Amino acid sequence: MSTVIYESPVFGPVHSRRLGISLGINLLPRGGKVCSFDCIYCECGLNKERRTRNPLPTPDEVASRLRTKLLEMKQEGLVPDVLTFAGNGEPTLHPHFPEIVDTVRAIRDELCPQAKMSILSNATQIGRPEIREALLHFDNNILKLDTVCPEYIRLVDRPQGHYDVEEQVRLLALFRGQCIIQTMLMRGEYEGRDLDNTRQEYVGPYLEALQRIRPRSVMLYTLDRETPVAGLLKAAPEVMESVAERIRALGIEVSVSC
Ligand code: SF4
Repeated sequence: MSTVIYESPVFGPVHSRRLGISLGINLLPRGGKVCSFDCIYCECGLNKERRTRNPLPTPDEVASRLRTKLLEMKQEGLVPDVLTFAGNGEPTLHPHFPEIVDTVRAIRDELCPQAKMSILSNATQIGRPEIREALLHFDNNILKLDTVCPEYIRLVDRPQGHYDVEEQVRLLALFRGQCIIQTMLMRGEYEGRDLDNTRQEYVGPYLEALQRIRPRSVMLYTLDRETPVAGLLKAAPEVMESVAERIRALGIEVSVSC
């Protein structure tokens, strides 16, 4: 399977279907993956296939590589629309995450003040106040919630430690609208189980959770690349649109990437 491992600590720029010209900031090690989920659809591959002994980038390495890259881009007349914390795993696992966010903001203000800061996170660390505080500094604080069904999460997202989805919803509501919920919709089968999370048994409780969280918006997306396990299928565009309509009916903005 052709999964992707990103350069660290800076990669791109890439044109993101959701974010525009995006310069990636990858706080995970070079050549491997570190994540507190092990999603069966992960574009980086499964955790066990991507283990690495390489160290995490230091805050100084992140700052120096970002500064160099932005200066190179400037010489080429390229300006990023967004600096995106993403890459080979979960960025908030980095032990110096809050400090790095502050440093990146300062470099952004100096070299590309128009660029937004975004993060793609699985939200597993938001029980820690210092992580919630750091996430509030992002223009686009994009947090994963694929469903609120614990069995589905165990089957598909596969948390690597304690994960209580009820507690997650409570914590997501603490952002008071300063978050964007990102939800993967798909079909297919894995280990003999139906993966269609667009069915009412999933969508009904999910909508109730969104009512409690009241995010700034919701991003619905589906599979875009090869997946590390077989049997997964894209959700149909019309089905995604019907889920989007139900979210809009709650008064919450939603985007759909098919
Ligand atoms: S949370 Fe993201 S990086 Fe982690 S396993 Fe899932 S898709 Fe991959």
